[in-house]
Amino acid sequence: MGYPKRALNWIDNKEVKPASRKFFAKINPATGKEMAQVARGDKRDVEKAVKSAERAYEGWSQTLVIKRAEILREAVLKIRERKEELAEIVALESGKSKKDALGEVGAAVECGFFFAGEGRRYSGEVLTSAVSNRHVELIRQSIGIGALITPFNNPAAGVAWKLFPALLCGNTVVLKSHEYTPYVAIWYAKIFKEVGLPTGVLSVVQGLGREVGAPLVEDPRVAFVSFTGSVKTGQLIIKATASRLAKVSIEAGGKNPFVVCDDADLEKAAAIAVQAAFVDAGQRCAAASRIIVFDKVYEKFKKLFLGKVAKLKVGTSDNDDFGAIISEKRLQEILKSVRGALKRKAALFSGGNRLIDDAHRAGYFMEPTVLERVSPKDEISCKELFGPVVILYRIKNFEEAVRLANDSDFKLTGAIHTQSIHRAQEFIRRYNAGVVRVNGPTHGSEPHMPFGGVGLSGNGWREPGTKALDFYSEWKQVSIDHDPSTV
Ligand code: NAD
Repeated sequence: MGYPKRALNWIDNKEVKPASRKFFAKINPATGKEMAQVARGDKRDVEKAVKSAERAYEGWSQTLVIKRAEILREAVLKIRERKEELAEIVALESGKSKKDALGEVGAAVECGFFFAGEGRRYSGEVLTSAVSNRHVELIRQSIGIGALITPFNNPAAGVAWKLFPALLCGNTVVLKSHEYTPYVAIWYAKIFKEVGLPTGVLSVVQGLGREVGAPLVEDPRVAFVSFTGSVKTGQLIIKATASRLAKVSIEAGGKNPFVVCDDADLEKAAAIAVQAAFVDAGQRCAAASRIIVFDKVYEKFKKLFLGKVAKLKVGTSDNDDFGAIISEKRLQEILKSVRGALKRKAALFSGGNRLIDDAHRAGYFMEPTVLERVSPKDEISCKELFGPVVILYRIKNFEEAVRLANDSDFKLTGAIHTQSIHRAQEFIRRYNAGVVRVNGPTHGSEPHMPFGGVGLSGNGWREPGTKALDFYSEWKQVSIDHDPSTV
């Protein structure tokens, strides 16, 4: 299966053209060439999709959860069978290697299996009561129609994280595809149709955020919104849904610290730091973008780190380490931020430029970039770049490391490299984020591990794992009084 010429909406279990009859170009980030036309949806498409979700809700929410889980399991089996096909789509849309895309699809499949298994563990709680002859329990109920808004950087995993738990819990959903990765969600929808997901349970709308995302989240029939993307959009969504108190999960950005102590295994720390900083060209919310190194080992670590950075290969072959930036606009924004920091006297050790040799010129590729001598208060220290740019900070001791790690509005993930259990424990206790790692990378998660951040990184919900079920379902408290005298 090749990539289609058009990425359309998916409503009532079929591909449909947008009401506007307008399209925009999807550019391949690795070649700079148009690869498809994408439906430019608007509120009329949202209306159709939400109506379809409304019609399907009663039937789907009343379907036994084990039956819903069986449909998920059949879908996952098919996705696994056709993983090469999905990986090709992911690689083309996002400008990464097939190897990396296959890794991502593997994660999506595991996520699917996890939630399919949860169908048989969809349990509540039995509570005690101070009243005699009263049985009290908590049971889960579906919420209603949900809007799922997914990011572009890991499109297959991004869809899986939201779609599987949302459907398991008995909701019907309208997924707003990311404009940079429009076809992945349609591919999922086709698989779900093949395995018998009823019409209207899953719809997909394509288009731009303000034209189709905004009317979707503003729709009063949409009971919950699960969003992964930028802080700015997350804030707009919270405002747009505030008056009706919709349930909203925001998973936003990161500016994740990677602390290297003077007792760390420096060789290992440098190798892991390179992976964590440049994974997916730094387009990962959990990428390490602030490397905080003890003064005593700073020069030694820097040498090891830069040695490894110099060996990184950029491109979309399976021998390359990372691929393209998603768009020309994003690439220009990252380059501008780096130039700004250099004007403010940052030191550049490596990179800083677009790759313009024959193999890369047409696409949106950037050299791995390492900066030093940047103030923690500088704009580039505070802003999430979502690119292959990392800053090294030299600090005196553990206290300063913890202070600097916490000195960010984002608090998503963080790692510390040390041989000391005491330092590790103190860091776990005092670094105030959603995810803390010891002697590992800042990125990487598993389907049963709830992920998310605090501060500007998120509003407190966690996905995936069983904690995600608390977002995609509501707890209902039930009490039953009985009368023993009538037995
Ligand atoms: P973005 O906010 O620009 O776009 C995300 C989606 O929101 C797109 O589909 C867009 O069309 C839509 N959108 C835009 N305006 C909207 C509106 N007014 N109403 C509704 N929808 C609207 O985000 P992005 O830059 O494409 O994604 C990258 C960001 O995602 C980074 O900040 C990254 O850190 C974050 N991210 C976070 C996680 C996490 O789990 N915390 C994971 C991956 C990515």
